[in-house]
Amino acid sequence: MFLKNFFKDKQSIVLSALLSFILLESFALLSVKYLQESEIENYLSVISPDVKSHIDIANSHLTDISKIFYDIEINRPEIIEIMAEASHTKDLKKKAILRERLLSRLSETYEHMKKYHVRQLHFHLPQAISFLRFHRPSKFGDSLVGVRETLEYVNENRTPISAFEEGRIFNGFRNVFPLYKGDEFIGTVEISFDFDEMQELLSSIDSSSYLFMIKNKIVNKKVFADEKSNYESSEFSGFDYDKATLKDTMQIGLDEMYAINTQIASRVEEQLQKGELFSIPFSDKSIYDNHTIVISFVPVLNLESKVVAYIVHYEFGDLIGIMLRNIKIISIVVTLLALLLSTIFTAILVNERKKQKSIHDLAVHDALTGIYNRHGVNELLNQKIEEFKRVKNKLSVVFFDIDFFKRVNDTYGHDMGDYVLENIAKLVSLEIRASDIFARWGGEEFILFLPDTSLEEALKVAEKLRKSIEEYAFSDIDTITCSFGVTELKKDDTKESFLKRVDNLLYEAKASGRNCVVSDMES
Ligand code: GH3
Ligand code: MG
Ligand code: MG
Repeated sequence: MFLKNFFKDKQSIVLSALLSFILLESFALLSVKYLQESEIENYLSVISPDVKSHIDIANSHLTDISKIFYDIEINRPEIIEIMAEASHTKDLKKKAILRERLLSRLSETYEHMKKYHVRQLHFHLPQAISFLRFHRPSKFGDSLVGVRETLEYVNENRTPISAFEEGRIFNGFRNVFPLYKGDEFIGTVEISFDFDEMQELLSSIDSSSYLFMIKNKIVNKKVFADEKSNYESSEFSGFDYDKATLKDTMQIGLDEMYAINTQIASRVEEQLQKGELFSIPFSDKSIYDNHTIVISFVPVLNLESKVVAYIVHYEFGDLIGIMLRNIKIISIVVTLLALLLSTIFTAILVNERKKQKSIHDLAVHDALTGIYNRHGVNELLNQKIEEFKRVKNKLSVVFFDIDFFKRVNDTYGHDMGDYVLENIAKLVSLEIRASDIFARWGGEEFILFLPDTSLEEALKVAEKLRKSIEEYAFSDIDTITCSFGVTELKKDDTKESFLKRVDNLLYEAKASGRNCVVSDMES
């Protein structure tokens, strides 16, 4: 019983220690995780707008360059004259001569413009008919209606426009200007840059890496069939890479980019489809040992403000790496703290249990003899009697009282009386079994419950005890004897009837001369 309780106690303490640790630890780790996520989110939310502003600056710089070239090199009387004549004639031969003249007039300028990142110089007649592409002079005369919204815009509004747009051959950040001879609208000219050129400009600011990808729906719709080889499909579903932009990826190698993109593609798919501006952290020991890379996705809008492409930016985000490492350290510290707290909690719990146990022990034990007191035995007795009746086991009781004890006190003093009580308790404790329940009922009365013991056996036990006490040599005093009553639990017994019977038997023993055992065994 005691051992069972002891193990139950141990189990519950271990359980509560474990539970408190798990609770503390999960609360701590959840807060660390929350802090980590919000910290990183804050950091990342600053990066993508920053990358975007770099791109915007590069873009407006290129737009400015195109305006300068337009003002200084294109919008000149001799160029306007050629375009005016071309717009007036239907004669293809004459047009060819004019085209040739325009080409030779501006080919040196075009070479010069290329040094300033200009990729395309393209003249059109009114109605968006291609007249001369400096980057592909052999392709002309085709209508760009339905293909190039920027051209249609300038034809309609007669004002310059700047926007990203996919074309028949290249995609580009386009600047389209109207051409006038006096008040007469005679065509348009486009001076534009593709991302390749913008990438070069951006990379000269810092050496971080950029990638350009465009929605493959747009490529399929707009690009000449024989120019589709300028694109290859990307790891991001729905997007193609512009091959020209893959030549020089700066800091991050192309193979590494492919490897990173393969791993992040599904993670970013939803945001890409929504056209969001965002950044994500990435780390993989097999790609870049010990480095975190921050990848930013900057949407590119067309004239109608629809996302048609993405600029993907890669940079080493060592600050994030440090943040992640610090958070790891904080997690370890927090775990140790949780361990410490739960240990303290367990120690308090164990201490509290011990205190409770000792209070309980004091309450159920006799201070003088150390055996159970009446309260302790009563507590046990209620459940024992029911248990023994249920399983139909035998339970006997021995009730005994010291004979003429008053005399011991009177003759030798109270201390000697205590000494006798103590020694009788010791003596009896040594002679009984561990399963027996022995208690001081009060004063100089003792009670002994003997589980699984018949009345006959109990009588023998009582007789043995009577003899042992009688024969015990108490120092400095005469022989001490006790009187005994013995009975066995009966089917209809209550606790009260059981005790009453044994009390009567003890009374009988006293009456019949003391130092004897009386039972209700029928002889
Ligand atoms: P009987 O044979 O009829 O039992 O006579 P008795 O003297 O033993 O019985 P009685 O009830 O007259 O006296 C019991 C005495 O036990 C009275 C009391 O002073 C003494 N006693 C009770 N408790 C203690 C105790 O804790 N210490 C000591 N020293 N004496 C105690
Ligand atoms: Mg007595
Ligand atoms: Mg008495």
